[in-house]
Amino acid sequence: MRLVLVGPPGAGKGTQAEFIAAHLAVPKISTGDIFRANVTQGTPLGVEAKRYMDAGKLVPDEVTINMVRDRLARADAAEGFLLDGFPRTTPQAAALDKLLADLGTALDLVMELVVDDDEVIRRLSGRRTCRGCEKVWHIEFDAPSEPGVCDRCGGELFQRDDDKAETIAERLREYANKTAPLIDYYGAQGKLVGIDATGPVEDVTVRAIDALR
Ligand code: ADP
Ligand code: ADP
Ligand code: ADP
Repeated sequence: MRLVLVGPPGAGKGTQAEFIAAHLAVPKISTGDIFRANVTQGTPLGVEAKRYMDAGKLVPDEVTINMVRDRLARADAAEGFLLDGFPRTTPQAAALDKLLADLGTALDLVMELVVDDDEVIRRLSGRRTCRGCEKVWHIEFDAPSEPGVCDRCGGELFQRDDDKAETIAERLREYANKTAPLIDYYGAQGKLVGIDATGPVEDVTVRAIDALR
């Protein structure tokens, strides 16, 4: 299956993507994770992307599309994939459609995680990420047994630079202006399914997996 997850920052895309990708046995491809890995490694792509990420802005389409094109060309994506955080603009969506059409295939489904702004702000401001395994936690909603330490790998948890209040506001504006139009774009293609992404993580996963059928 070729699936896209859309939703505002903090909707729970990364959290759900883990479970859905495992359920479907397809690779999870997160553009945010790939950008962050490049930032950590100090690659030219990372140096360029960081300027935008730190400001809460989207990385330019051309850079992002080229990166995704490379990633989708890898063998593990041939039979299916779950895209988390891409596309995020109408030009990115059009480029993805074209890229898949050239390969003789197409997206099967676009799943929107629906959550309101207040909940998104609560989720983002308490988000903590593991330096070791990149698992995402929440200080209140999904707290590790020992504060600041990852239960899965023992790694140190940190707060992403772009999860500070001022940057969160800019990211929500970018979402409303540039990403929300994708809801109509995919609605018009008949590929959109929206699910209620509030409530416990496990309940959202059940709704997401139900919506795949
Ligand atoms: P979140 O999980 O909060 O939605 P991501 O980890 O997906 O955030 O993305 C973090 C940042 O990486 C974004 O704010 C943006 O700067 C950049 N980014 C990720 N995906 C894209 C994309 N498809 N297009 C442009 N920029 C992106
Ligand atoms: P996104 O990838 O959409 O930015 P994440 O999956 O990183 O979102 O989730 C953002 C934060 O919200 C994380 O701290 C995560 O632990 C928490 N979270 C995810 N799903 C839920 C949920 N259903 N209820 C409460 N908190 C959640
Ligand atoms: P995997 O799931 O196999 O670990 P990822 O997509 O997470 O693959 O990427 C693994 C590493 O490769 C990351 O460090 C990331 O920086 C790098 N990478 C992946 N795709 C690209 C790309 N198109 N351009 C630059 N670096 C990439």
